Amino acid sequence: MRRFSLLPSLALLLLLAGSAKGVAGEKFTRVVIDPGHGGLDPGSSAFGLLEKELTLDLAKRLEKILSSHGLTTELTRRVDKYVELGDRAEKANSQAGTIFVSVHFNAHTDRSISGTETLYWPGSDSGRELASYVQSELGRRLVTRNRGFKPKRLKVLEKTKCTAVLIECGFISNRWESQRCGAEWFRQIIAEEIAQGILRYRDL
Ligand SMILES: [Zn+2]
Repeated sequence: MRRFSLLPSLALLLLLAGSAKGVAGEKFTRVVIDPGHGGLDPGSSAFGLLEKELTLDLAKRLEKILSSHGLTTELTRRVDKYVELGDRAEKANSQAGTIFVSVHFNAHTDRSISGTETLYWPGSDSGRELASYVQSELGRRLVTRNRGFKPKRLKVLEKTKCTAVLIECGFISNRWESQRCGAEWFRQIIAEEIAQGILRYRDL
C-alpha cells in the first residue's frame, strides 16, 4: 500500500495547479460565448465568406442549444461590431461559475489544409479538459479532419481567468470546407457538437 501514499498530495498539487484557470470537473452555470472578430476586423475571408459573420451565426446557434439545457449564456457581441479582446474576457471574468468559449473559422495560404481544432491556454488543466471534450465531439457526425486540441498562447485566452477554449471550426480557405462552413446545416451540427462537448464536461 505504501506506493499509494503519494496520491493524495499529488491530487492536491494538481488541484492547486488548476485553480488559477478553473478546476477540472468544475460546476459552472454560465457560458460566455465569444463570436470571433467583428466590425472593422473581419477575421479571415475566402470564397465570399467572412469569418466574423460565420462566428456570429454559430455563436447564436450554440447559445440556443446551451440555454435549452439550463445554462445561462451571454455573447460578447450580438451584432457586427468590434469588441476589444480584454472586454471579451472581462465578460467572463466578471462572474464566478463561468466558462468562456470563443468560436472562430480558420484560413491558411496552403488551401489544401482543412479540419477543426480546439485551443486552450498552456498550463490550464481545466482548459485542456474542456478542449478535449469539445474536440472529441467535433466531427463525430461530420467527416471532418480532426486536428486535435492544443495549447496556444492566444491573447484572449491569456486574459480570461476562468476555464476557456477557442474553437477553430473549419478552414474557409479550403474550397471544400468553405462550402460547408458557408452552409447553415453545417454550422448547426458544429454548434450541436460543441454544445455536446460542453455538456459532457459539465456532467463529468
Ligand atoms: Zn479568427
